[in-house]
Amino acid sequence: MNNVTRDTTIKGTAVVPGISYAEAVWIHPRPELPQAGAVVAEEGRAEEFERFEKAANTVAERLDERAAAAEGAAKEVLSATAGMVRDRGWRKAVKKNINSGHPADYAVVAATTKFISMFEAAGGVMAERVTDLRDIRDRVIAELRGEQEPGLPSVSGPVVLCADDLSPADTAALDTSLFTALVTELGGPTSHTAIIARQLNVPCIVAVGEKLHQIEPGTKVLVDGSLGTLTLDADPDTATAAVHEYKLFAERVASWRGPARTKDGHRVQLLANVQDGNAARVAASTQAEGIGLFRTEMCFLSAVEEPSVEQQAAVYAKVLEQFPTSKVVVRSLDAGSDKPVAFASMADEMNPALGVRGLRVARANEPLLTRQLDAIAKATQELGRGDDAPTWVMAPMVATAREARWFADLCEERGLIPGAMIEVPAAALMADKIMPHLRFVSIGTNDLTQYTMAADRMSPQLAYLTDPWQPAVLRLIEHTCNQGKKFDTAVGVCGEAAADPLLACVLTGLGVTSLSAASTAIAGVGAQLASLTLEDCQQAARIALDSEGATEARSAVREFIQGL
Ligand code: PEP
Ligand code: MG
Repeated sequence: MNNVTRDTTIKGTAVVPGISYAEAVWIHPRPELPQAGAVVAEEGRAEEFERFEKAANTVAERLDERAAAAEGAAKEVLSATAGMVRDRGWRKAVKKNINSGHPADYAVVAATTKFISMFEAAGGVMAERVTDLRDIRDRVIAELRGEQEPGLPSVSGPVVLCADDLSPADTAALDTSLFTALVTELGGPTSHTAIIARQLNVPCIVAVGEKLHQIEPGTKVLVDGSLGTLTLDADPDTATAAVHEYKLFAERVASWRGPARTKDGHRVQLLANVQDGNAARVAASTQAEGIGLFRTEMCFLSAVEEPSVEQQAAVYAKVLEQFPTSKVVVRSLDAGSDKPVAFASMADEMNPALGVRGLRVARANEPLLTRQLDAIAKATQELGRGDDAPTWVMAPMVATAREARWFADLCEERGLIPGAMIEVPAAALMADKIMPHLRFVSIGTNDLTQYTMAADRMSPQLAYLTDPWQPAVLRLIEHTCNQGKKFDTAVGVCGEAAADPLLACVLTGLGVTSLSAASTAIAGVGAQLASLTLEDCQQAARIALDSEGATEARSAVREFIQGL
């Protein structure tokens, strides 16, 4: 494991909101299964069986101990698993294998495989126990070899569970009063871990990547499931206060229903960020009023060749059909830099984040853009989306008014509503020249922060700079909102900033009219907005704008809101 510097923040994909502050534990890995081949001499077989029995008894006792300390369903699952390790039929099968010369570990594998086939053939509830059989097999093998027991470690107090990935078996008996957050290196928003975490309603971050291995067992970690951040060595008082505050907030979130309004009735549209039809389906089951950012490039990350207009239209329809009568904002391909799309990326640039990415790819290859717009228009027409639910399309990485006009003309020719992302500082500063060509803009705070602060958004060391609370970024947003009012152009935010309930209030105070975030974050933002008046949001915005830095802005706004 690498050394960790203090106050490092690691980012992953936010799946379930919530805040936890506890010591990290790592799930123990499953043992490698032995192959057939080794033979135990006849005179050693009785002793080999004794070795197996001892290991199996130890595993059963450990499970009993955990069952005794657990409650409800967890207690039942653990007791039942202990019972399986004691099962006479299974032990007899192991004994038979050892008596025919197999070493204990292979004898366990062979006996379990036989039982797995029997359980699977029986089907129904029996088939569902197959994962438990594999679980006891792995526990006994690990014990025989003197390795750590795989799966959940025994813990006595609250912990943050770190794993490469989690299987349903790992989490069957997960006690969320002990395992207060789940964080995985792999997985995605629809992986097993994510599904289980949503069901358990435990804060969860997935797809953290190899950086997760920087976290040593025992390190205190502040997990923010809304932002997808893991803060190592956070200040204990601040972290404990954040956990307490979140508990109170969670009660309000659970009962919040949209559409979103401030306490005094000022409407803010809350939309979802999606990358495919699945995510759109999930969004449709939340309080999201529509889609505020459909990242189309994410559909084609593994495509070698450009999909045809028909193929693209089918992909876009999967998202559009989830919100047949509501606003859906499709973003044209944002290829390049951290999102390489084989058929639309420039090879070997010295500095890809500042290179030919986003709309710049389309400037160099207009037919690529027009085919995509044709596909979006085709899906729109085929789904019969009427004037009340037209499709909005926005371009990423717009930097000049000329680019905006060029893009808008191509959209309007196809009956699509044109917009642009404001994520290059030049676009924010030139909003008065850009807006007359467009019907809406959406501020991409992830890139706007990266380019304003000249700090790579992927760099964990620069996380203190790539923080959308940076007043410099907020000042550019304020300027954009002021121009939006002047030109009667809707100004949304679709970067991660929109998922942060406190920052969402600041953005509303600055004049942002819609916020688009991961669907898991929507209720949190809605509940926070409902607790403040528009004037409170405006005051919070003034406080943030006037702060010296991001940390100061966040603390000052938090303090102001707590004091209301
Ligand atoms: C952004 O930059 O804020 C944004 C929403 O776009 P992406 O994160 O896809 O670059
Ligand atoms: Mg961006």
